[in-house]
Amino acid sequence: MPSLYLPATAAIISLILIIIYYQKKSVKLFENRLYEIMLFSILFDSILVGSAFLNAYTNYNELFILILNKIDYVFLITWCSALFLYNYTITYRNKKNYDYKKYNFKVFLGTIIADILMVIAEAFTPLEVVRETFLRQSVSGTSVVLTLAFCVVYIMASLIIVIINRHNLNKKHLPVFIVILTVLVIAFLFSINPFLIIVSMGLTIVNLIMFFTIENPDMKMIEELNIAREQAEKANNAKTDFLSNMSHEIRTPLNAIIGFSESLKKERLSSEAKESVKYIIDASNSLLEIVNGILDISKIEANKLEIVNTEYEIMDVLHELTALSKARLGNEKPIEFRTSFDESMPKYLYGDYARIKQICLNLLTNAIKYTNEGYIDFKVDYVKKGNIIRLIISVEDTGIGIKKENIDKLFDKFQRIDLEKNISIEGTGLGLAITKYLVKMMGGKIVVQSEYGKGSKFTVSIDQHIVNEPKKVYNEVIDDEEETLFPNKRVLVVDDNKLNLKVAEKILGEYDLIVETANSGDESIDMIKNFEPYDLILMDDMMPEKSGSETFIEIKKIKDFNTPVVVLTANAITGMKEKYLATGFDDYLAKPIQKCELTKILNKFLK
Ligand code: ADP
Repeated sequence: MPSLYLPATAAIISLILIIIYYQKKSVKLFENRLYEIMLFSILFDSILVGSAFLNAYTNYNELFILILNKIDYVFLITWCSALFLYNYTITYRNKKNYDYKKYNFKVFLGTIIADILMVIAEAFTPLEVVRETFLRQSVSGTSVVLTLAFCVVYIMASLIIVIINRHNLNKKHLPVFIVILTVLVIAFLFSINPFLIIVSMGLTIVNLIMFFTIENPDMKMIEELNIAREQAEKANNAKTDFLSNMSHEIRTPLNAIIGFSESLKKERLSSEAKESVKYIIDASNSLLEIVNGILDISKIEANKLEIVNTEYEIMDVLHELTALSKARLGNEKPIEFRTSFDESMPKYLYGDYARIKQICLNLLTNAIKYTNEGYIDFKVDYVKKGNIIRLIISVEDTGIGIKKENIDKLFDKFQRIDLEKNISIEGTGLGLAITKYLVKMMGGKIVVQSEYGKGSKFTVSIDQHIVNEPKKVYNEVIDDEEETLFPNKRVLVVDDNKLNLKVAEKILGEYDLIVETANSGDESIDMIKNFEPYDLILMDDMMPEKSGSETFIEIKKIKDFNTPVVVLTANAITGMKEKYLATGFDDYLAKPIQKCELTKILNKFLK
């Protein structure tokens, strides 16, 4: 009974496939339901075809064989239409500019109606059994031809939609579908006698291929996880973009608030008004720190934070940190700020000094915030090994301390602890999360020792390279921060925001400079070409039409142009400065403009 082997094997394979399929838990999407229909259709089809053959071998009953065949065609039609709908679903569901929700019902309904009409047609058209030999029999007649043609139409349609929408398909699935559908088209078109035996086995093989390539629950789960991960990444990127835009938007008006308040400080005001101006500046600076923190954490989460290594002078960085901390500390609290830097430290190092500064500043700011009296020790030691130096930076305070049970939570983002004590201290709970991440990125370590009520000590160790012969060390600190006047010096400020231009005019005016302004990159290019050379250009980067960076590239091409150009930007994420300097800008000034930073720049380029 060789003819019986094929449907019998097909039935056994289908049964095993169904058992395995249902043993594993998986999420069932619509297409997976369709696959289930395909599995069962072929199981029934193989059983029916097998039974017809068995009957032919045993007590040959023509009517019985005819009825079995007619019922079998219903399953064949079901299988082919399920395959068609499967392909339609996975290719059209996420297609751009296609309203899947609107059309899918119509496509499904149309398919079912076509199936029903087809089943009626095949039921009422003639079919006959041809008994070629005692051991071979096959079927012929309009009924089988109609069914065959109908199935071929479905398979061709599937092939066409897969090819048209190949870009919507998972890359790994496309070849599978093309192979499956091509095999099917060939199998149906060249279906040789006995037609049904080959088809049953062929369709079972298709089910098998689909199971191992697309429908296997494990693979499906991995795929679903991948999709979920991709979606989460997309959402995260959207969040980062949103935060970065928001921070830019917030920084622009902040620039105006800080700028005008700073210039108000100079006016002759009542002491009460002076105090109010100071509060406005303090509050704006806090807001600025919050915006920067959120911007940094969002970059960290999106893996977009980069370490930018350059050569630098370590003592310059440490002295600047000391100056900043002392200014922050003021004289309001009875705290002694003590420093101890090992002077034998190699002078020039190679690493990301901006991040080292950020790490130290976070620790120092916390020490200042959470200490009411006593001292703060800022200590930097080192261990040298060959070309590498391990900086051991510690910040110790006699502050409120941290409870043992809270130490683990310290570095979680948005985690503020001991709030009943800290409620009046400003903070977002981001500083230490960012610090820990930065230390990790630089291959370092951070440890905390603390005694509740007595004080805390944060120690960071980071390796840096030693530079023996520095090339061009970016000098972070220019000793001369004295405000000087620059009469007759001409400065061009380029910014698309009128308020920003007003702030810049006002602040620069205090240095007795001649200030000219341009509203766009193109306007500034015209002015540079047509007016006398400027002594300094301050260029905003984020401008519509032509960005500051693009304008800068064009300006550089102007003959005999050698005015220093300083980029002015609200996109002041740490690390941006190095990027702009690498573009060729002479220096970088973050918005909101800090008076001391501006003084440094003016002293550097105009003195
Ligand atoms: P923030 O200071 O903005 O709240 P951080 O991430 O810098 O956020 O710190 C998290 C928490 O750790 C703070 O809310 C504070 O409770 C605690 N903390 C940090 N540094 C110190 C310190 N030097 N002394 C006591 N508590 C500290």
